[in-house]
Amino acid sequence: MTGGALQLLAGKRAIVTGGANPRGIGAAVVELFLAQGANVAVLDHAYPEGAEVQPVRGRVDLHCDVSRAASCEAALARAKEVLGGIDVLVNNAGIVAATRIWDLPEDEFRRMIDVNLTGTYNVTHAALPALLESTRHPAIVNLGSTAALRGGGLLGGSHYAASKGGVISFTKALARELGPRGIRANCVAPGIIETDMTREKFGENWEQELKQGIPLQRFGSPAEVAQAILFLASDLSSYSTGIVVDVNGGFHIH
Ligand code: NDP
Repeated sequence: MTGGALQLLAGKRAIVTGGANPRGIGAAVVELFLAQGANVAVLDHAYPEGAEVQPVRGRVDLHCDVSRAASCEAALARAKEVLGGIDVLVNNAGIVAATRIWDLPEDEFRRMIDVNLTGTYNVTHAALPALLESTRHPAIVNLGSTAALRGGGLLGGSHYAASKGGVISFTKALARELGPRGIRANCVAPGIIETDMTREKFGENWEQELKQGIPLQRFGSPAEVAQAILFLASDLSSYSTGIVVDVNGGFHIH
């Protein structure tokens, strides 16, 4: 999908976390949002602290460790200043690990929750004053996972599944609390998407077996997840809040 005459995010000011990896979902969201007319602040811990880069017109890259509240406050304050406000927030930054419960130490469990769930809270909380000021149909889109719905089991252990289940519940509560104040909040739950999180992680035999079990017979691409995120971020979904959009090729059908 590219920007045509109708740009779905024209005039919108967007935050995308975890967009530094060029092969990730965040990068695909940034590319699509720019093509659809948004100005985008990309927040990632990979960007050097204190340095601010504007790689292309309409985009600024800022350091942010989503697991640290102070880092989020600083990044969101600067993003608001550069963009002139915030209308769309995509909480995409995340980590994964397959560690099974019998090998799972408390510090690894905590780290997973700190990045995936507390990170989503930290960025949302820091962005909220600007989102509440927005008069351009503000929207929050969070990244859940099929792992939250089916109980992990593949590349995500119980800590990953719990963190993403938390993100989904958090999103539903946000929808209730923020709907009356004009902000929509929704979730995308990707299945197996070809990024560094999943690429070459299964081994050839398991990968073939998994694909045969997916009705669409293949893994998804970051661009396909980005399209669902665009739907939820834009006015195309103006009467949807508190929903979870599955992007999983039929891998998990409710
Ligand atoms: P990537 O690892 O490619 O992208 C995640 C990005 O978040 C990376 O740039 C990563 O940096 C960054 N990040 C990690 N920790 C932090 C932090 N503390 N602060 C700021 N940025 C951070 O993953 P994907 O693109 O595959 O995943 C994107 C989202 O989609 C995640 O939330 C993931 O859980 C979710 N998802 C992905 C699925 C898949 O199959 N790929 C399936 C279901 C959900 P670094 O590389 O340095 O860690």
